[in-house]
Amino acid sequence: MKRSTEEYQRKVVWISAALLGWFRTAARPMAWRETRDPYRIWVSEIMLQQTRVETVAPYYERFLSKFPDVRSLANARLDDVLKAWEGLGYYSRARNLHRAAGILSARHGAEVPCTVEALEALPGIGRSTAGAIAAIAFGADVPILDANARRVVARLFAVEGDPRSGRVERILWKRSASLVRRGKGRDTALAVMDLGAVVCLPKAPRCKECPLRSRCSSYLRGLQDSIPPKRTKKVVPHHDIVAGVFRRPDGALFLMRRPSDGLLGGLWAFPSGRRDPGETLEDALRRSVREKLQVRAVIQREVGVVRHAYSHYRITLHGFLCETSGGALPAGEGSGWLPGHGEGTFALPRADRKLVELIHREAGK
Ligand code: SF4
Repeated sequence: MKRSTEEYQRKVVWISAALLGWFRTAARPMAWRETRDPYRIWVSEIMLQQTRVETVAPYYERFLSKFPDVRSLANARLDDVLKAWEGLGYYSRARNLHRAAGILSARHGAEVPCTVEALEALPGIGRSTAGAIAAIAFGADVPILDANARRVVARLFAVEGDPRSGRVERILWKRSASLVRRGKGRDTALAVMDLGAVVCLPKAPRCKECPLRSRCSSYLRGLQDSIPPKRTKKVVPHHDIVAGVFRRPDGALFLMRRPSDGLLGGLWAFPSGRRDPGETLEDALRRSVREKLQVRAVIQREVGVVRHAYSHYRITLHGFLCETSGGALPAGEGSGWLPGHGEGTFALPRADRKLVELIHREAGK
């Protein structure tokens, strides 16, 4: 027993050193790595959740030029925050960031806290993101377990089983923690992220180029392609969505704000609904407009079809130019007019934004 513990200790010490040695020459340059400002690091970590580095880079700069610190974010209108997030997806991240900034501003002197526990208590920050912020911004010697770390650690120690199951996850947290040497929390977190992003890839790990291969249990046992186990692909549902396009003579388009909780919450979209089985697109549109706006839609013609894949489903969005009959479009907080040039402060879901572009293209013909 004692011997195997010693062997394990030797192994983790060797891996940590090799990992940090590799990181010194292979670290990926990123704007958010050039700062120690906890606010900027927090924003970057939230943006990077389920989103690629290349996608995040321009959003990060724009977002920070609009909201340079906790207080400016807390004082901003949610609409403006969502607008700065438009196109980045997973909008609950933006809503939570805004809420968390409000909490920090009201109760913590607008400072980002430095401990995992305090960070985890904020909306939108899970244990791994809390660990990443604590390690990267404050140099805390704490582990992370984001998607990359999960895969790297599972392979290094040949931890079999579903890494998202409670039992396996507990083992992975322990293994991840064992890699963190005193005073090296920041570099270890970044190194694990980078190794997972460029060497220990999900589909075809580049073991031949890996600095850890001589101590990687999966590589030594030929298990690198089966750890973590492939997840069975879920059938992605598809929905036909019909949208009513109401256009004013000046070209402005009528939009409604989506409920703040739930998918694409707080964004502005065309009044729309899902087509039921057996329903024609036109019938679905008339029904949806009646339910949402309490007016009758007089359909003129189809003005655009957009296909788009969200994270858990795909849609085909059919936009129909309409006029109203038997009532007026609602006016007030939950409704608005997107100016004819398409700009303004409205944040739209990607599919609706594409539909706006099609409508403009059609109008410009
Ligand atoms: S040897 Fe292969 S499986 Fe092991 S950590 Fe390196 S890339 Fe990943």
